[in-house]
Amino acid sequence: MPAPRLTGEQRRVLDWAAAARRDLPWRRTRDPWAVLVAEVMLQQTQVDRVVPRWERFLRRWPDPAGCAAATVADVLTEWSGLGYPRRARDLHGAAVRVRDHHGGTFPRHLDDLLDLPGVGPYTARAVLAFSFEEDVAVVDTNVGRVLARRAGRRLTPREAQLAADEWVPVGEGWAWNQGMLDLGALRCRPAVPECTGCPVRRTCLWARTGRPLPDPAAGSAGVSRRQAPFEGSARQARGRLMRALEAGPVPPSELSGVTGRDVAAAVVVADSLVADGLAVRAADGSLTLPR
Ligand code: SF4
Repeated sequence: MPAPRLTGEQRRVLDWAAAARRDLPWRRTRDPWAVLVAEVMLQQTQVDRVVPRWERFLRRWPDPAGCAAATVADVLTEWSGLGYPRRARDLHGAAVRVRDHHGGTFPRHLDDLLDLPGVGPYTARAVLAFSFEEDVAVVDTNVGRVLARRAGRRLTPREAQLAADEWVPVGEGWAWNQGMLDLGALRCRPAVPECTGCPVRRTCLWARTGRPLPDPAAGSAGVSRRQAPFEGSARQARGRLMRALEAGPVPPSELSGVTGRDVAAAVVVADSLVADGLAVRAADGSLTLPR
């Protein structure tokens, strides 16, 4: 008798996922560029803030060719308010690479995707799973939490990826990965997981042993750590300077006032943007967005 295509647990997860699935606009497309833009935005920005910005970004640049033809400054300005602008610079770089190295056709092999600026193991696999519906596993902070708790211990990146890959049912890569993301976000929450009725409950070592502390998800592969406070951070000062640059050049005399830092600290902030390719310094010392 042929082996069943799905284990009982895989069926339970898929059934739960189908019922719980969040209706998110990027789940209605299989276009790899649209999926990539969504994944990059979602890396450090909450879902409800991403939805309108993702739609706006794709109205402006519906394909890599359009984005590649824009300037970095255009993309950085479009990104304004989403934070972590290196993501915008890299997205533009990815569009340029698709145009220049892949003839404008989005690559569908893992190594080619990993060569795109700003695309790491998670994002590359997300494009494969959510655009090309391949049976690869994505491990983000939500999935990483489920994997560690199910294993009852902290996992290395290799262990987490292996455990995730082995769990994907054949032919169900899209639905499975969306389901795992939802399971981590909606049920296996960081502070208070909702284990009763969880489709993974029967094999979840941490739940079966009474959820002893420390939580195995803490420090496990893929699970993000709590962010440092934004107020007073270098990130805040960089964000202020980026917003000012979107309006026009910033001369050295205005750096301190714009960033809210003393003169020496403001120069450090400015230098960090230049080093990251997010600003360029003119001969008179003023800063502008890169062209
Ligand atoms: S049983 Fe609880 S801890 Fe285990 S995966 Fe489900 S929600 Fe998370």
